[in-house]
Amino acid sequence: MAQVQRMSRLMIKTLRDDPADAETLSHKLLVRAGYVRRNAAGIWTWLPLGKKVLDNISGVVREEMDAIGAQEVLLPALLPKEPYEASGRWEEYGDLLFRLKDRKGGDYLLGPTHEEIFTQTVKDQCTSYKDLPVMLYQIQTKYRDEARPRSGVLRGREFQMKDSYSFDTTDEGLAHSYALHRAAYIKIFERLGLDHRIVSAVSGAMGGSASEEFLAPAAAGEDTFADCPNCDYAANTEAVTFALAPVDGSAHGAVEELDTPDTPTIETLAEHLGVPASATLKNLLVKVDGEIVAVGVPGHREVDLGKLGEHLAPAVVELVTAEDFVGRDDLVRGYVGPQGLEKVRYLADPRVAPGTSWITGANKEGKHARNVVAGRDFEVDQYLDVVVVEEGDPCPKCGTGLTLDRAIEIGHIFQLGRKYADTFQLDVLGQQGKPVRVTMGSYGIGVSRAVAALTEQTADDKGLCWPREIAPADVHVVAAGKALQTELALDVSEKLNAAGLRVLVDDRPGVSPGVKFTDSELIGVPKILVAGRRSADGVLELKDRRTGEREELTVDEAIARLT
Ligand code: ATP
Ligand code: MG
Ligand code: MG
Ligand code: MG
Repeated sequence: MAQVQRMSRLMIKTLRDDPADAETLSHKLLVRAGYVRRNAAGIWTWLPLGKKVLDNISGVVREEMDAIGAQEVLLPALLPKEPYEASGRWEEYGDLLFRLKDRKGGDYLLGPTHEEIFTQTVKDQCTSYKDLPVMLYQIQTKYRDEARPRSGVLRGREFQMKDSYSFDTTDEGLAHSYALHRAAYIKIFERLGLDHRIVSAVSGAMGGSASEEFLAPAAAGEDTFADCPNCDYAANTEAVTFALAPVDGSAHGAVEELDTPDTPTIETLAEHLGVPASATLKNLLVKVDGEIVAVGVPGHREVDLGKLGEHLAPAVVELVTAEDFVGRDDLVRGYVGPQGLEKVRYLADPRVAPGTSWITGANKEGKHARNVVAGRDFEVDQYLDVVVVEEGDPCPKCGTGLTLDRAIEIGHIFQLGRKYADTFQLDVLGQQGKPVRVTMGSYGIGVSRAVAALTEQTADDKGLCWPREIAPADVHVVAAGKALQTELALDVSEKLNAAGLRVLVDDRPGVSPGVKFTDSELIGVPKILVAGRRSADGVLELKDRRTGEREELTVDEAIARLT
C-alpha cells in the first residue's frame, strides 16, 4: 500500500512569484508549485509531485493502448545514423535533430520520433502475414532541438511522448488500426479531462495520406484551428489553407517588397499587407537584415504576425519574393505528385526546423523528389500570394463562416502507408506465398505536454487544479495549527490511506496556516481537508479545490465522503 506523503519530508519549495521568463500559465504554475525545475532551455526536471502527475498520465495512456491490443516496448533514444539516412530524415530534419558522435567518430542521433527503428524491428521480428497485424508502442523520451523551446514543458527539447506504430498487410487493415487508435485517443483525453477537438491535418513530414490532430483549445496554444459552426468540419489552418487556396496563385493578392526605411511595427506591416494585425499569413517570406527570418507557405507553417513582432525591432524588415529562393536547393523541398510538382516548402524559417512538417513524396515514377530547385523545378511567383485564413472564411465543406481558435497539439495520428516499408523493404510472406509490402500508421501523444495542456485548461488564479485521476493525491490534508492539529491531520491521513486514498498531508512544523492554505491551493489536489480550529472536537473542514465549497465533518464523515 502506498504511504501517506508527508510534506515535512517532501522535497518541495513553492514560490510566490512567477519565474521571470515564464509567459504561459502552465509554465508559471508548474514551477511555482514545485512540480518542475528548469535545467536549460527546453530541458526540465520532474520533481516529486510533477513526476506523479506525469506517471498518472502515462498510466492512462498505457491502459488505453493495452486495451486496443498494442504491445509496449522500449526502444533506445540513442540511435545510429544509418536508418535515418536511409529514410532521408538525417538530412531533412536539419537543425531539429540532436546529432552526436561516439568515441570512434561514428554518427548518432537522439531520436525525435521512431518510424525507422520500429520498421526495422518489425522487419526483424515478423516474417509472415500471420504475424500481422501488430501494434507497438512506447512511452519514451524524445529529443528535438526546437527553435523556440518556450512555454515550459509545453515545448521541450527533451520531452515524453507515447508513440505507437501499426503494421498491416492491407489498406483496410491500416484503416482499422487507425480507427482503433483514434477511438483510444478519444478515451484517453476524456479520462485526462482534456477538452479536445479532432481536426484534419496535412500529413506533411510523415509522408502519408490521412492525418488528424488532437487539439486542446487554450489561449497559450501555438496552433490555430478552424471550426465550422454548421457542419463537422474542423481543420488546422494548414489544412484549411490547402482547402481554400489551391497552390496555383489564385489566392488573395500578391506581396511586393515592403519598403521600410524605419523600424516597422506589426501595425505598419499589417497595414501594408492589408490584413488585420492578428492575421495568420501563408506565403509570406520575410527578411530581416538580409536574413530570411520567417516563411509562411501552405504545407509549412503560418507566419503569425504577432510572433513576428520579435523580429521586427530594431532590424529592418523586407518582405522578399520567392526570387530569393531561386537556385537555393538548401531552402526548398518539393513534393512531386501525379500532377507534377504539387507542393513546395521553404526551409528557411528558423521557427520551424527543416523537415519537421515536410519531407518528400513519391513522383509519377515512384521516386522521391528531393532538393527541388526554385526556378528550375517550379515557377517561383506562383507561391507569392498572401493567404489569410480569417474568422468567417467559408467552410470548405458547407460554406458557413469558420471560427478560429488557439489550441495545443496534444496528439497526432497518421496513416503513413508504405513510405517507410518501401525504404526498408518491409515485406511479409503473404497468403499466396508471395511477399506483401506492409502498410503502416504512426500515432503520437505528448505525455509531458499533456501535463501543461491540462494546466492551461484547468488552473485558476489560485493555482493548479487537477482532475482526481491525474492529481498527485486524492486529498490534501492540512494541519493548520500546533501539535493537536498535526496529530489529528496525521491520524485522519492514515485512515484515509488505509481506505485506499492517495494522501498528501501538510505536517510541516513552523509553517503558518495561511502559507499552508495558499500552498494547498497552488498545488491543486482536488480535495483539501483542514484540521484547524475545531480539532479538539475532532471536526475537520473539507474544501473543494475547484468550487471553494466548504463543510465541517467529523473524521468518520470525512472518510465516508472521500471514499
Ligand atoms: P508541434 O506542431 O507542436 O511542433 P509536432 O507536430 O512537431 O508538434 P508530432 O511529430 O506530431 O509533433 O509529435 C507527436 C506529439 O508529440 C505532438 O502531437 C505533441 O503532443 C508532442 N510534441 C511534439 N513536439 C513536442 C515538444 N517539443 N515538447 C513536448 N511535446 C511535443
Ligand atoms: Mg514540431
Ligand atoms: Mg504539429
Ligand atoms: Mg504533429
